[in-house]
Order: sequence, then C-alpha cells, then structure tokens
Amino acid sequence: MIELDGSQGEGGGQILRTALALSLISGKPFCMENIRAKRPKPGLMRQHLACVQAAVAVGGGAGHTQAVSSGGHAAQVGETSLVFTPGKVCAGDYEFAVGSAGSCMLVLQTVLWPLVLADRTSTLKLSGGTHNPMAPSLSFLKLLAPYFAGSGPALFDMELRRHGFYPAGGGEVAVRVHPPVKGLAAINIMQRGELLEAYVECLHAGIARGVAERELATLKGGLGWHDEQLRDRALRSNEGPGNVLQAVLQYEHITEVFSSYGDKGMSSERVAHELVKQVQAYQGQQAPVGPYLADQLMIPLALAGTRGQRGRYWAAELTEHARTNAAVIEKFLPVKFALEPLSGGVLIALAP
Ligand code: ATP
Repeated sequence: MIELDGSQGEGGGQILRTALALSLISGKPFCMENIRAKRPKPGLMRQHLACVQAAVAVGGGAGHTQAVSSGGHAAQVGETSLVFTPGKVCAGDYEFAVGSAGSCMLVLQTVLWPLVLADRTSTLKLSGGTHNPMAPSLSFLKLLAPYFAGSGPALFDMELRRHGFYPAGGGEVAVRVHPPVKGLAAINIMQRGELLEAYVECLHAGIARGVAERELATLKGGLGWHDEQLRDRALRSNEGPGNVLQAVLQYEHITEVFSSYGDKGMSSERVAHELVKQVQAYQGQQAPVGPYLADQLMIPLALAGTRGQRGRYWAAELTEHARTNAAVIEKFLPVKFALEPLSGGVLIALAP
C-alpha cells in the first residue's frame, strides 16, 4: 500500500489524479490523507469525486476497484482521505459527468493514461466545464494532443459538442483514446523552431457586448499584434455565460496555448493584460515547453521511459506542480526524475 500525503508540495487535486491514474496502471493500491490540504476548501470537491468515480469505472467498476475513505465508507464530497484498490483497466465506452461546472478535462487527465495503455480503443463522453481556470482547457488539450504522443501516432482526439464555463457548466466533449500499437514513443522536445503562426481567440457566450472587442484591442496593443491575429468567436448564448481569451503560438516543433478568463468584476483590460503577461513570459525565453504542459508531460515521459523509450524536454519553468507530480510518479513507477536547470528553464528527463 503506497502512502501519500495530499498536503505535500503543491497540495492540490493533481496529486490525487496522478495517484489514481498510476495506481490503475501499476496495480498498486494507495491511501491518501490530507487531500487538497493546501486549497481554500480542502477535501474532495464534486470534480475530484468525479475523477475517483471515473477511475473506479475504468478499473472494472465497484466489483473490482474500491475507493473508500480511511474510515471505510464510500468516497464523498468533503472527504479528506481515500483508500484506493485498483482492478484491471478495461477499455470501453464511458460517460462521465462532473455534475457541476468543474473541469471535465481533469477527469480526462485521470483516466487518459490507463486507457492509452489498455488493449483497445475507448470512447468517453465527458460533461462539465470545458474551459476552466486552473485546468487544461479543451482547446489546450486538443492543440497539444500530438506532443503527448512523442513521435508516435496521436493517442487521443477530441470533439467539442458544447462549451462549458464556470458557473453554469453544461459542456460536452467526446474523446477517443487510441492505444498505440507499437507502445508509447519517447517524448523529445528540445527546441521551438520557427514561429509559424500566432493568434488570439476570444471565446464569449452570453456576456456584455463590447467585452470581446475591448479584450482583443488591449491584447493587440500589449503584444503589438495585427488585426489578422485577432479572432472574435461568439458562441451560442446558451453556452454561457463565459469568456476566455486564448493565445495560440504555433512553432515548428511545439504549439503552446495560454488562457485568461473573464470573471464578474474583472475588467476586459485586466483579462487581456493577464494574457499579455503569460505570452511575453513565454516569448522572453527559448524553452519550448510552457509551464502547464511541463507537468502534464511527466506521466507519459515516465511511462514511455519504463518501456525503454527514454525522452526529455526543456521546460520554461520548474513549477511546484511539476515538482510535486514528479514525487508522486516516483512512488508508483520505477523511475527517478532528473530535473536540471537549463538556460533559464529546466531540463526534464529520467535519471539513468
Ligand atoms: P485543486 O488544486 O483546487 O484541486 P485542481 O484539481 O484544478 O485544483 P491542480 O492540482 O491545481 O488541481 O492541477 C491543475 C492542473 O491543471 C495541472 O496539471 C496544471 O498544469 C493544469 N493547468 C492549470 N492551469 C492551466 C492552463 N492555463 N492551461 C493548461 N493547463 C493548466
């Protein structure tokens, strides 16, 4: 039984999601105390419970995979401990609903790698938030999907059926997970190459008129971009209310996506300035892998590494999320991360 402290390092939901994924893959049970201890509302929230339930489902259901509190009762919202005993991963057709505006992309983050390593294709119908702050958005995962596969064929594809924003939720996404016939390929991302395209999209639904124009105008001024680089994407008003400004930087060897979310009481200018800061920080460096992709690539890097496919990538920053994720991954898999400073960023690889 692997013992994990959910308050370690970053102390958020990712510790739980990584543990669920790798427990299913390795067959090792774990117990976790202090779940999300460093968050304002600690314990399992609706979206984390959805991740636990999704992990139970892909582990063959409650008859094969158990998830209970340390007191022995069924996992529920507010719970701060979990004992998880995995069964065999079953590919299949699944539907997972977060049941709130919580991110359904984080449910995908939980079950993706177990299903990638399963024996056949799976389909997922996910509902909840598709574009949430503090989580990978659907746009991010869709555009960055190729990098999770290294030099191998795409491991998953996604189709957005309906956007979902906080607080209304209601987003819907269909995902197909394709286990690679020849196994996972190594991930090697060491340079950006030429900048091929840079643009910003303003997604907005059911919010005040003029917001998109102001956000795009502020961004244009802040980054010195041209009108052709600004895309106003009005969504059906019943998909809102919601607003996200997303910058996409497409280089020869990497695409990066940065997001800034509109919120009540937050000016359009501030939403745009937040995004300008992220884009400038990334453009002010040379490392290809941005701070969010960096922690999310660690699981496939490690899984490919345990199968003899050793990769490495140069990340712009060593975040607390990445450091914590490395520590959790090392508990489940026979790997040790080597995290070395490299020209203002960090080289992420596995120790020999
Ligand atoms: P909580 O910590 O409240 O439980 P959480 O469940 O969202 O929240 P975190 O531990 O904060 O979990 O993990 C968030 C995950 O979302 C990380 O993998 C991080 O890389 C990713 N992420 C956060 N912001 C972005 C973003 N703007 N773009 C892409 N990915 C993001």
